[in-house]
Amino acid sequence: MEKTAKIFIAGHRGLVGSAIRRGLEEHGYTNLLLRTRAELDLTDKAAVRTFFEQERPEYVFLAAAKVGGIVANDTYPADFIRENLEIQTNVIDAAYRSGVKRLLFLGSSCIYPKLCPQPIKEEYLLTGPLEPTNRAYALAKIAGIEMCWAYNRQYGTQFLAAMPTNLYGPNDNFDLKNSHVLPALIRKAAEAKAAGEANITVWGTGTPRRELLYSDDLAEACLYLMSLPDAEFGKLLTTGEPPLINIGTGEDLTIRELAELVCKVVGFAGELIFDTTRPDGTPRKLMDVSRIHALGWQAKTPLEDGIRRVYESVKDLFLAPA
Ligand code: GDP
Repeated sequence: MEKTAKIFIAGHRGLVGSAIRRGLEEHGYTNLLLRTRAELDLTDKAAVRTFFEQERPEYVFLAAAKVGGIVANDTYPADFIRENLEIQTNVIDAAYRSGVKRLLFLGSSCIYPKLCPQPIKEEYLLTGPLEPTNRAYALAKIAGIEMCWAYNRQYGTQFLAAMPTNLYGPNDNFDLKNSHVLPALIRKAAEAKAAGEANITVWGTGTPRRELLYSDDLAEACLYLMSLPDAEFGKLLTTGEPPLINIGTGEDLTIRELAELVCKVVGFAGELIFDTTRPDGTPRKLMDVSRIHALGWQAKTPLEDGIRRVYESVKDLFLAPA
């Protein structure tokens, strides 16, 4: 990827897209193509086609998606499957039609079966039933991977799917109902500290295990993949299996341990109360990251440092006494 290459980041305001944008800018890429949702509605097929025909991006980071935590996914499954299928179908097809050189399709670790062996290897895709709470989202993403693969086979495109583990970072969603676990815990601990409360509520039993990757680390991985020499990039697409690569840290911890770490960073000394009427979701989701490690990339931000950085970026919002 040359520094002057025309690069479209679909979803540049989200957690992933904003990190990719920062990463590209820091590495001196100067020709970034960005559109807000108001400027380009990615669910509008005609608008997406016209945009690609006119702008002719050379590289595409497809980070636009409807995403949310366990409850949001469970409450709005129709929105999750429809919007994600529309966005990815429109972008992938328009990328092929306009001759994009490489496309990176971002998904998530929830594409893998609920109870698959840990750590999760890429080859476990479609080997068992999905976690019911986010099946609609996961199936849309699986369709996107299949679509990249199908286009590569039929049209010779260079489309790769990268599946990050659970992510966190600045620009996350901190809404307590719809967010993922880490922003929710940061907010709960910060607000409880400010209000002088004695405890915070953690959903579920605290025993599920999760792996968390800092968004800037994911961005580095995405840039790394998109900048691989042709031979190495091509190898990822011609394995005879879906063009899929996991991105994670290779380490996980329990939700209880995560909550304790958040409380430590925030400086909240109260108790944790576990609300077991809330769902636990998948018991464990740890990525096998041997494939990306073998390519020469690994995550570098320790979890506690990452949590501190996120906390510093939002604490003024949540520490004000109510
Ligand atoms: P998941 O990884 O797709 O299950 O998504 P989440 O990040 O939403 O949830 C991860 C785990 O954290 C689940 O076991 C949740 O029950 C648990 N959890 C604990 N407290 C919270 C919270 O306040 N918000 C969310 N979203 N999850 C929580």
